[in-house]
Amino acid sequence: MEPKKKTKVCSRCGQRKPVSEFCRQTAAKDGLAYWCKACIKAYNKAHRTEITAQKKAYYRTPIGRAVNKRAGKKYRKSKRGHLKGVLRDAKNRCYNPNDSGYPQYGERGIKICKRWLNKKAGFDNFFSDMSSSYTKGLWIDRINVNGNYKPSNCRWVTREISDNNTQKTIERVKLAKQGLKRCSRCKKILPVAGFNKCKTTKSKLASSCKTCMRKYQQQRKTKKKKNKKK
Ligand SMILES: [Zn+2]
Ligand SMILES: [Zn+2]
Repeated sequence: MEPKKKTKVCSRCGQRKPVSEFCRQTAAKDGLAYWCKACIKAYNKAHRTEITAQKKAYYRTPIGRAVNKRAGKKYRKSKRGHLKGVLRDAKNRCYNPNDSGYPQYGERGIKICKRWLNKKAGFDNFFSDMSSSYTKGLWIDRINVNGNYKPSNCRWVTREISDNNTQKTIERVKLAKQGLKRCSRCKKILPVAGFNKCKTTKSKLASSCKTCMRKYQQQRKTKKKKNKKK
């Protein structure tokens, strides 16, 4: 093998510098950029507004948009990108009243610890606390379901464990012991007798109560009639 060059002359400032002072550039013959790092830095600093404008314009072109989209897709698939989504979703559940999970989280006073909520370093903290134990396909879970999102109360689990640990399941078990069940439609807690039997569900009962089922079936009938008239 050819011995690697130890120094290189920068084509901008003309100075001979150690190769560590040059960025890698696979397209170049020697695998190094033509300009030294200091020259590139100085150039970028002097032309900052121009460069950002160029980048912005590029990302507005069809090719640029496609490149950007692909990069975003790749990032979201990466561990860092995925965990960013996990933290964002948790934040929404806890602090965004419009989020579908808010009644189960924010409304019940579930919070995210300050360390993870910090605007500047929050995600980096979350990543350094939780990324080493994460593997693909796992869900974030709070060990104590009434506790907050914080390092000591969070772990990664499979979907099944996560589901079993949710507030809903805990409530369902509690109610079942008293012969009660919550209707998934009207959200009322009713005696088990208020539900039709169903073979396919775990509890062997329909998920919505008899009253809701009746209403639903009536609605369907009237819709069908309307459609026929048309
Ligand atoms: Zn230079
Ligand atoms: Zn109901």
